[in-house]
Parts: sequence; C-alpha cells; structure tokens
Amino acid sequence: LLSKRLQAVYQMVDNNVRVADIGSDHAYLPVELIEQGVASYAIAGEVAPGPMSRSKEDVEKFGLSEKIDVRLGDGLAVITDNDAIDTVVIAGMGGILIQNILTRATTEQLQNVKTLILQPNIGEPLVRHWLVENNFAIVDEDIVEEDHHVYEIIKANKVENPVSLTEAQFLMGPILIDKKTKTFVAKWQHKLNSYQKAVENMGHAKKVDQDKIDVMNRYIKYIEEIL
Ligand code: SAM
Repeated sequence: LLSKRLQAVYQMVDNNVRVADIGSDHAYLPVELIEQGVASYAIAGEVAPGPMSRSKEDVEKFGLSEKIDVRLGDGLAVITDNDAIDTVVIAGMGGILIQNILTRATTEQLQNVKTLILQPNIGEPLVRHWLVENNFAIVDEDIVEEDHHVYEIIKANKVENPVSLTEAQFLMGPILIDKKTKTFVAKWQHKLNSYQKAVENMGHAKKVDQDKIDVMNRYIKYIEEIL
C-alpha cells in the first residue's frame, strides 16, 4: 500500500503511539499504522473536503473507524487535548508549508506531542530551524529516492534544551551527514555541481550579487568537506 517515501516515514513511527497525520490526503499512512498495530489510535487530518470524505469512506470500508478518526481542518487544529496525541506526522508538503503549519499550532495542540515526523518535499533547512528553535531535537533522519525525486524524513523529540546545529547541519541534516548513504552522496554531488555552475555564471553576470555568491561558496565548502 505504501510508496517507498511513505514507507520510510512509517519506519520512523515508534510503537504504541497515538498519532495525527496532518495533510493525510488518502490516509494510507494511518491505515497502515493501525493495521500493523504500530499505532493504537490515529487522526487523519485534512484541510480539503474531497480527500477527507474519500479517506473517511476508505477507513469505514477497512472497518477501522474505531481507531482512525478522519477530521476536516487546518493543520493541528484537528487535535484536541482529549485525543492525547503524542506523535505528529506531516509529510509530502513543502518546507515552508510545514513550518507554517507548525508555527500556527497552539501550545495546547503541541502540549502532549513528544515526537514530530516531518517529510518536506523541499526546504528541509527551514524545518530543521523550526525544530531547534521550538525545543525539538533531531533524533533520526532518512533519505530515499522515488521517481527521480529525493525525499528527506526528519524525526524529532521534544527536549528541554535543544542543541543548535551548524549551518552545514541545517542544510544537509545532522544525522544524514553521519549516515552518509549512497542516496545522500548522490544528492549532494548533484547539488555541488549546480552550485559550482551557478557561481561561475553569477561571476559573469552584469550585476554581481556578492551575498548570493558568498552563500553558494559556503555551501560548496560544506559539501566538499562532508562528501
Ligand atoms: N501526507 C500525504 C503523503 O505524504 O502522501 C499526502 C501529501 S499531499 C501532497 C498534501 C496534502 O496536505 C493535501 O491533501 C492537502 O490538501 C493537505 N494540506 C495542505 N495544507 C494543509 C493544512 N494546512 N492542513 C491540513 N492539510 C493540509
């Protein structure tokens, strides 16, 4: 049922959790988590009425309505205190949208949440910044390729005092840097080539944007050091 990307997200979920999958669309993830007994209860949150009602039908068809609640709503607004949700998944959206959803969450909505599992399609550094600035420590990361797109999955736990990350860690992922898998190396080799080309082209431009060139050169240095 799950794609390679969603399977990697699934693998990050701890046993026996009460999970909310925000922007669940088809609700594949909650269905699998409940069917396999990984989660004891799940909310599938969705802002769009179409996917939400389709998911509701599917959940009923699978006979899982007791354990999966499909709810219409914006971001974490679908979570109430009584749900005792300890794990929130937000997958398959841009980093800006994920950061925005998390920023709009209230203290009450996040109060029981111990673990966030986030899978931005792009803009991963934004997500890592939000985590560190909001008392979450990154405890695991994964990187997978599916249909010529590379996806990163970031798991973070609530902590009292999160340690900050270096600019290279925000960019490339502290755990991914340590794991240094083939997919990771291929992604950054590709990025390195495009940054080098971009710096070369910018150097020839009529109006040189030195700040941008400096950032790119810093990225090039980090990537070369890490690969
Ligand atoms: N999470 C699934 C996955 O990873 O395969 C579905 C990803 S789908 C591309 C993104 C979904 O997020 C869409 O169904 C969209 O309607 C929903 N979405 C976007 N903004 C949202 C928000 N603020 N609150 C809840 N859902 C949202």
